[in-house]
Amino acid sequence: AWRNAHNFSGGPGAMPRAVLEQLAQAALEVPEVGLSLYGISHRSDWFRAVVDEAQQILRVLLGAGDDWEVLSLQGGASLQFSMALVNLGCTPATPVDWVRAGYWSARAMAEATAVCAPHLAWDGLAQGYRALPRWDQTTQRPGILHVVSNETVEGLQFRDAPPRLPGRLVVCDMSSDLLSRTIDLDAYDLIYAHAQKNLGPAGVTVVLVRKSLLEQAPSGLPPMLDYRTHARAGSIYNTPPVAAIYTMLLVLRWLRDEIGDLKRMAHINAAKAAAVYAALDANPDVYIPHAQPAWRSQMNVAFRLADPARDASLRRALTDAGFSGLDGHRSLGGFRASLYDAVALEAAQNLAAVLRDWAQ
Ligand code: PMP
Repeated sequence: AWRNAHNFSGGPGAMPRAVLEQLAQAALEVPEVGLSLYGISHRSDWFRAVVDEAQQILRVLLGAGDDWEVLSLQGGASLQFSMALVNLGCTPATPVDWVRAGYWSARAMAEATAVCAPHLAWDGLAQGYRALPRWDQTTQRPGILHVVSNETVEGLQFRDAPPRLPGRLVVCDMSSDLLSRTIDLDAYDLIYAHAQKNLGPAGVTVVLVRKSLLEQAPSGLPPMLDYRTHARAGSIYNTPPVAAIYTMLLVLRWLRDEIGDLKRMAHINAAKAAAVYAALDANPDVYIPHAQPAWRSQMNVAFRLADPARDASLRRALTDAGFSGLDGHRSLGGFRASLYDAVALEAAQNLAAVLRDWAQ
């Protein structure tokens, strides 16, 4: 069995087989260039076209018009925890409303404390990050709101975007669900997502930011941390991760050509998640899903066993079935099935079948 077909890793995660086949070839020689992917200059015309095409496909998939700047940057999503806010003009005194609803929004908030004054707009810590708030339960006021659309560790996902409020900018970390479903771009001002879930490999982070905000960005930022530097350079300011960005392009082409659009992707992802949650729900004495049902993520299904003494047995059954990546995050333990775009519906159904069998 081809183990990549059942890679349920939380990230870096599954990659489409067709992309891996093209990469195997590109490692030796990119057909259009006649050189290895790892030895092509970032100043080549070929790479300029790669960056432009990747950004163009992203724009089409997301419906992002000319009022949006699309950047591909380095530093992971973690750099954006602070970089996004300094580009919005935050100083250490600027209040930023923060929805703390899981491991990653907490990490982001801690990181952002260096550049702004995060204020808890809602806090799920005391309830163990099992639910998300309705928007009317969060602080609603002008300023800046930071949210994480999908909490990767706990498997919690917002169903909709925050409401538009006059004078409020919404910053969203979509690292673990960008391109998994359609989004209402109008509701956001700045979106960031690293690639290593649905977009490709680690090494590149996509930022979508309204151009009108870049015009108002503060001066005096270190050039590498200033979005405008990267916008002016068309995301080739210094040496970008050429191989990672080319891989992202292949993934984006795959999504466009093999899946079609985000509506179809969302439909498939919903079916995948439904299959796995149904297997857990069919055996409530055995499996305990982490998230409250209303907030269950379609990307990450986190659960534990009612009897943790049986963890090793389930782990063995999953490995024997040829599955990988199903250990829970180190902060939570238990199990987690990540169902990113490249995980096929059949793979999710196979996982569900093994979970059902093992529970019997
Ligand atoms: N945000 C979210 C939602 C994540 O899932 C992760 C990592 N899995 C990060 C941020 C951090 O990303 P990176 O490791 O690229 O800095």
